[in-house]
Amino acid sequence: MSMFCNQCQETAKNTGCTINGVCGKREDTANLQDLLIFACQGLAYTAIEAGKKGLNTNRESRHIVNSLFMTITNANFDDKVIIQATRDCLIYRDNLKTKVNLSEKHDSINWSGKEDTEFYEKSKNVSTLFYDSEQDIRALKQYSLFGIKGMSAYAEHAFNLGFEEQDIYDFIQQTLVMITKPMSLNGMVDWIMRTGEYGVKVLALLDKANTSTFGNPEITKVNIGTGKNPGILVSGHDLKDLEELLIQSDGKGVDIYTHSEMLPSHAYPSLKKYKHLVANYGNAWHRQIDEFETFNGPILFTTNCLVPPRKTATYNNRVFTTGATGMPEWKYIGNKPGNGKKDFSEIIEMAKKCPAPSEIENGEIVIGFAHNQVLSLADKILEAVNSGAIKRMVVMSGCDARQKAREYYTEFAKKLPKDTVILTSGCAKYRYNKLNLGDINGIPRVLDAGQCNDSYSWALVALKLKEVLNLDDINKLPIVFNIAWYEQKAIIVHLALLNLGIKNTHIGPTLPGFMTPNVLKVVQQKFGVQTITTVEEDLKVFGIN
Ligand code: SF4
Ligand code: SF4
Repeated sequence: MSMFCNQCQETAKNTGCTINGVCGKREDTANLQDLLIFACQGLAYTAIEAGKKGLNTNRESRHIVNSLFMTITNANFDDKVIIQATRDCLIYRDNLKTKVNLSEKHDSINWSGKEDTEFYEKSKNVSTLFYDSEQDIRALKQYSLFGIKGMSAYAEHAFNLGFEEQDIYDFIQQTLVMITKPMSLNGMVDWIMRTGEYGVKVLALLDKANTSTFGNPEITKVNIGTGKNPGILVSGHDLKDLEELLIQSDGKGVDIYTHSEMLPSHAYPSLKKYKHLVANYGNAWHRQIDEFETFNGPILFTTNCLVPPRKTATYNNRVFTTGATGMPEWKYIGNKPGNGKKDFSEIIEMAKKCPAPSEIENGEIVIGFAHNQVLSLADKILEAVNSGAIKRMVVMSGCDARQKAREYYTEFAKKLPKDTVILTSGCAKYRYNKLNLGDINGIPRVLDAGQCNDSYSWALVALKLKEVLNLDDINKLPIVFNIAWYEQKAIIVHLALLNLGIKNTHIGPTLPGFMTPNVLKVVQQKFGVQTITTVEEDLKVFGIN
């Protein structure tokens, strides 16, 4: 076996990619990502020890978070950048080692390499398959690793806005070290529970960072057509990058369009005030290989999901990456030394010379139903629930991806009775947010809270409804969870929901391939987690008909 990766829903045969990734990740890149995690483990050992001595390890913590983010699905395909991040881990680690006494002997504390060839060679021997000889423990260690990868993505967006919590960094580092140690099955199950607890913390932190920087999202109609000006298309989740681009492009005759997960930015008061943030172009991330062709102008990726371009792609010279993302064919924009800001002038100048985007659809979609906005409508919603106008709410948050099986979610949305409201977030929404499902007494039947991290909004809304309705158990609410997952951010969101006491969630289109039958049994017994079947069956299981 030349590589092994089983971290996402599209993993080959639902067991693991072993030749090339279904996502397009090549063997060397997959192995180098494993090596980067290994290097983060050595750095985590030393950072924990340095923290005990009162040394400031913020720089190291941020580097670990950024490195883990680089290894999530569809974030970074650039070997050079991954090797550089690994070298930086070794430099940070060796610097800290001069200041602390480490009695631990794990290989990650002492291994070093100089030439790229040494990195490639070592990378073949640090796969997650080596995490434990016992397969249930190994699966749970992989589960916790994938959880902290998702956690790191959210922590990075928060620290980009100046919001950090040391205990989140500490937990990430403790998890990296824990993976190297012998663990019991019960110890691992407890660790997974703790991962969910820190998942809640990181989601709350990012929510605070986003809303205190850009204001609370408000109900907003977003154009999905095109204008006459040239445009720049922005994808990913990082609102800070979008804001910087909006500032730098203001008054330059260039319009800014959002793609995929950046759609929710239109609802934030401090972003929607820019008149040249004009529309959302296209659909979920996996449609980019067609939609980038017709967009005509430059594209900026602030985070995943990147899809390796086809050989025939005409847009390679128009795509830029930043933050944790990378693709060898595309140009990277980093922070400027000194003020740490990013210079997007090259993208703006390129846009001016490009034709306007070609229209692929037109109309409007309504967004902005994050927790603050929904709770301000709580009276109206409760009235509709009490009068029976709303009988059920279905949380259909999560991800979208390529598999045909995901048509289930469109069919499920279509077949829901008209007294049912869909609560959504993440790019799963693109499966049904243009179906014109109507409204109930003025409340749209698809309430879109925002990005995948905004699934936290639905947990807050559920907790509030439980309080107002005076229920002793959140699971007695008329809310069911039918969640689509794809990558590691969805794993941490799901663990956070479980930690908040939400039971009987349905996840699909398949259960995670990294779960062994025993691990699955534990998750099912503890939380009633199930997978989807057919639309008709699941409507019956949810008691919706
Ligand atoms: S990220 Fe997913 S598709 Fe890509 S190699 Fe890993 S398991 Fe396979
Ligand atoms: S919802 Fe899931 S698939 Fe979509 S961008 Fe977010 S993490 Fe990726």
